[in-house]
Amino acid sequence: MKFELVQLPYATDALSPVIGKQTVECHHGKHLQTYVNNLNNLIAGTDLEDAPLETIVKKATGAVFNNAGQVLNHNLYFTQFSPNGGGRPSGKLSAAIESSFGSFEEFRGAFESAGATLFGSGWVWLASDGQGKLSIAKEPNAGNPATTGLKPLLGFDVWEHAYYLDYQNRRADHLKDLWGIVDWKAVEARY
Ligand code: MN
Repeated sequence: MKFELVQLPYATDALSPVIGKQTVECHHGKHLQTYVNNLNNLIAGTDLEDAPLETIVKKATGAVFNNAGQVLNHNLYFTQFSPNGGGRPSGKLSAAIESSFGSFEEFRGAFESAGATLFGSGWVWLASDGQGKLSIAKEPNAGNPATTGLKPLLGFDVWEHAYYLDYQNRRADHLKDLWGIVDWKAVEARY
């Protein structure tokens, strides 16, 4: 299976100033494109060549895992934002957040704190188990909760390439501002 760069559902300048045009162009057009190219090159001629992306992420190790994980992570990341985003989730996801974390505000605080305290590069995820129970997962580097059998619903990228041009060292401020562009309809559709 030849993987392709995921299409952005918005213009490259649409998420500014939370994620500026230059960041989107470099993060999506260069970093993610490189992960896609590396993955395609690494799996060519191997028994993972025709496997779905999630299968590769669950089975692979080393460089194949790193690149497949980052393709999966960024496919979820870039399709969960909207210039008309923000607000709060509704329906069964909203109810599950309240039952797991107490309130949407408490969830947001715990999620931001997990992202701010992750040392080095990685991701913070909202994930669901087979019964719909929610948890927050801190994953280093290319990690994704799919590797532990959970379904990733929402992911904030805390690699410096995700925010450094717009926020420099102010990772916590960036995480706080990301709530303003989350497309909860897209996140709810994953639940
Ligand atoms: Mn990234």
